Amino acid sequence: MAFTEFRPLDEKSLIEYIKAVPFLYSKLGSDLKVKEVGDGNLNFVYIVISHARYFVMKQALPYMRCIGESWSMTKERAYFEAVALTELGRLSLEHVPKVCHFDLTMSLIGMHYLEPPHIIVKKGLIAGIEYPLLAEHVKIRCKDTLFHIPPLSFHHGAQTFAEFCGNMELCRLTEQVVFSDPSKVSQYNHWTSPYLDRDAEALREGNVLKLEVAELKSKFCERDQALLHGDLHTSSVMVTHESTQVLDPDFAFYWPMGFDIGAFLGNLILAFFFAQDGHADQVNDRKTYKEWILRTIEDTWNLFNKKFIALWDEHKDGSGEAYLPAIYNNPELQQLVQKKFMEDLFHYTLGFGAAKMIRRIVDVAHVEDFESITDASRRADCGHRALEVAKLLLKERRKFHAITELFQPFKNSS
Ligand code: ADP
Repeated sequence: MAFTEFRPLDEKSLIEYIKAVPFLYSKLGSDLKVKEVGDGNLNFVYIVISHARYFVMKQALPYMRCIGESWSMTKERAYFEAVALTELGRLSLEHVPKVCHFDLTMSLIGMHYLEPPHIIVKKGLIAGIEYPLLAEHVKIRCKDTLFHIPPLSFHHGAQTFAEFCGNMELCRLTEQVVFSDPSKVSQYNHWTSPYLDRDAEALREGNVLKLEVAELKSKFCERDQALLHGDLHTSSVMVTHESTQVLDPDFAFYWPMGFDIGAFLGNLILAFFFAQDGHADQVNDRKTYKEWILRTIEDTWNLFNKKFIALWDEHKDGSGEAYLPAIYNNPELQQLVQKKFMEDLFHYTLGFGAAKMIRRIVDVAHVEDFESITDASRRADCGHRALEVAKLLLKERRKFHAITELFQPFKNSS
């Protein structure tokens, strides 16, 4: 019989659990090995090895893993992660691991194992590995999931929308850690001190910066545009040279669509700075790799932009309400409307991306590309330059019209 009450699992009790669940037992058998491999901030991830196959079980405990019990957090996040994996998998099947089991009482998800050589993108970035299809796959995944928004097409149902309104606690947490904590004194904020003390203080004291963050936060809270992954950074994506898989959507919610693409691009921008100096050595100065990161940033946005417009053209006589064919009834007007829509999206993408960059340097949850630079002053130097670029993007984002225009400021500060 399955466990009737919640209890935190470990490698041993997970085997008891599997034996008690007929579906899992029939799939995996009784000769099992389990290894906990979680390296994220929140949850526990177990690889289950049976004679014939590998399987992943992921459990949410009622607190944040990287802090411990002092930062309590709803374990219902596992429910939203399971629903989001299923829904995002429905929209973009090839790019999401399949969920095979979910236990609400235990806050436990069972899903397909992404076999080696799948690796978390962030680890690939630290190792300096190029993934030629990454931008193309992220574009496919973004356009598959983001195009289905009410103004343009009515593909998502009211039921899915209502479902995700329940993920309020993680929604509030995102508002807090991305938009509020970096601008104030907050218990778990930390940075490479004392080197970045002045930078952290500048974030708390900059009026212009705070005005920009306020605008982004307000847009973020007010606009339920599309079902987003909610935390689409480079540790939420596993890759090989041929495959790109998106994991870990426990923050899924209806938000402005620039937030997902911005998070991904913001993390690549961070990687650009860290790849350059933080991980360069005498054997490899990372210059060629840096160029690949810039190309991936450029391709991700440009491919997405192009495909999104193509889909819009294809569906222009469809059921979307915002741009009725009876009103937007000539190609010139249609083009103007699309240009304005995509330009706004671009500016919000840059703003959200910059906010995500800042939080990863000064708030509770940092990024491995940064933390794995062992020399503190070198790490701080990378962090300082990344913060300067993020601040510039926040303040000046409306002046940029094409993704390549960003690269000069990047190069100037590197
Ligand atoms: P968290 O919610 O704590 O951030 P993640 O979902 O990011 O946890 O998973 C943590 C780690 O577990 C990942 O970095 C990855 O190495 C591994 N992992 C998670 N899901 C899978 C999977 N389906 N296949 C293979 N490895 C996985």
